[in-house]
Amino acid sequence: MGWSFTIGSFKGTAIRIHITLILFLVWIGFATYLKNGSQAAIESLIFISTIFICITLHEFGHILTAKYFGIASPEVTLLPIGGAASMDRMPDKPYQELLVATAGPVVNVIIALVLLLARQAFDFDAALRIEDPTVSLTQRLAAANLFLALFNLIPAFPMDGGRVLRALLAMWMGPKKATNIAATVGQCFAFLLGFAGFFGHPMLVFIAIFIYMAASSEAQMTNVMETTKDLLAAQAMETCIVTIRPEATLREAVEGFLASSQDELPLVEAQGKLRGMLSRTDLVDALRDTQPDMPIAPFAKDPSSTIHPEEPISAVLQALSATRPVVVIDENERFLGLLTRQSLAEIIMIRDIKPNWRFSRQNPFSRMVAKR
Ligand SMILES: [Zn+2]
Repeated sequence: MGWSFTIGSFKGTAIRIHITLILFLVWIGFATYLKNGSQAAIESLIFISTIFICITLHEFGHILTAKYFGIASPEVTLLPIGGAASMDRMPDKPYQELLVATAGPVVNVIIALVLLLARQAFDFDAALRIEDPTVSLTQRLAAANLFLALFNLIPAFPMDGGRVLRALLAMWMGPKKATNIAATVGQCFAFLLGFAGFFGHPMLVFIAIFIYMAASSEAQMTNVMETTKDLLAAQAMETCIVTIRPEATLREAVEGFLASSQDELPLVEAQGKLRGMLSRTDLVDALRDTQPDMPIAPFAKDPSSTIHPEEPISAVLQALSATRPVVVIDENERFLGLLTRQSLAEIIMIRDIKPNWRFSRQNPFSRMVAKR
């Protein structure tokens, strides 16, 4: 996620803080300082930071459980609204998703229990006054963790409860149907919440809109994954690609972009080896500063992500949702084709009509054009 800084890492997952969270903390600290002085400001910052440590532990509940099932999470980002772990993929089996989804809230329940046992007494009324600084930090933290666990178990995407519901449904009706039902339940919750927001706190309306959109995009993403899960890169890639030699000039690159609708031109050596990718933005920048007869090689960049033709495309679906294409190269780094959002959209369109359509590995239209 852009605008975030890495503050550390644990078991292969980078922990990142988004700039909005830092601004949020600065704002809270400053507002409390103006109202109640520096002592209160420090205390409220300690309290909020501790909550964010608990949120991080919650995310690591998910991350470490997923890791147990062989799913890596390169990073977790802390935002003012909570934490977001980026997992390489979703668990395949419903019971795995169930365990990964519940592990987060379970961490918060454990933290709350440990804090309460340490105090050996729990004053329920006091714990509810979470903003009251006269209540002890342990009590308020315990209450905050119980709240985090309950809030996350609301059965609506992107909350953990939405995934729990989907996993339970998927155990007897298959993932696609389960996701659609779970997404609909989530959207009903969003409506109820939004309705409550009109009569209560306006903030609820924003949360409702957020949940509604998350439910739709979750349903869409799962449909894409289900529709494409058996496909290898070789079957899904675009192969009518305009490529260009590394020694070509900017002028030739302009012609290459005009001749195709690609966003990036692959730089391919005579023997077929990929040397880099030239995006339209790279070309525009180059044309601003240099003459059209200069070579393009210095302006090309490494591809943002690559895949082997025999790998399933599920491995790069996350990367594909960004704007840049995924480059298909073999073990000798020879360029074979591109995976793009457009090729994915075409596959989904065909499979919507003919769910069992077989995409061939040897596309008869396969050819590279305009090698220069
Ligand atoms: Zn969670």
